[in-house]
Amino acid sequence: MSWDDVKYARRREEMVRRQIEARNITDPAVLAAMRKVPRHLFVSEALRHKAYEDYPLPIGEQQTISQPFIVAEMTQALSLGPGDRVLEIGTGSGYQAAILAEIAYRVYTVERLHPLYVQARRLFDQLQYHNIVMRYTDGTKGWKAQSPFDAIIVTAGAPKAPQTLIDQLAEGGRMIIPVGDQYAQDLIKITKDARGVQQQSLGGCRFVKLIGEEGWGTV
Ligand code: SAH
Repeated sequence: MSWDDVKYARRREEMVRRQIEARNITDPAVLAAMRKVPRHLFVSEALRHKAYEDYPLPIGEQQTISQPFIVAEMTQALSLGPGDRVLEIGTGSGYQAAILAEIAYRVYTVERLHPLYVQARRLFDQLQYHNIVMRYTDGTKGWKAQSPFDAIIVTAGAPKAPQTLIDQLAEGGRMIIPVGDQYAQDLIKITKDARGVQQQSLGGCRFVKLIGEEGWGTV
């Protein structure tokens, strides 16, 4: 372990204690994943010293890596088990996908911006996340060939939950998506069972825009 590894491990531990455990994240699998994934490697070198702070950071292409707490909150809300297959829309830096990959069986993640897709792919290889599968395309259409999914997480805000994604949720499946206008959204949890689809709000949040056929249109 290098001196840098030790330094970042300490910062990560502090992040988990102050920002995650202190705010009602109790799922042991989520806490273990947040303690393990080296978040500083998911941002540019210039921002590495800020990687464990309590806010989102720019990752290029006008996109952001979410605040650590939001990642933990959304992951916990998915109630993941080790056998689950998860679809993520909006790979971005790849940090959320790595957290999911620590807990679930397999993660399918979709990104529509090529530079971010390439960068995340390289990082997954480097960190040996063999259970993450990627696609470079419009994620609002989901990933039909691999559906149904036990869990779906959308990490960009949409005017409403795309029906195509709800259709790709397994019975017993859970989906988390920020829904609202482009300035503020509600984190919505959608569950599907034999009786149909239920929705509940988990509170306010602010994400970059989901772009695409069932998002904000083409930009
Ligand atoms: N989960 C990311 C957060 C990325 S921000 C992380 O952990 O870093 C949201 C991402 O969603 C951006 O990278 C953006 O390009 C992507 N995105 C927006 N609309 C999309 C769409 N229709 N399909 C796939 N990705 C999309």
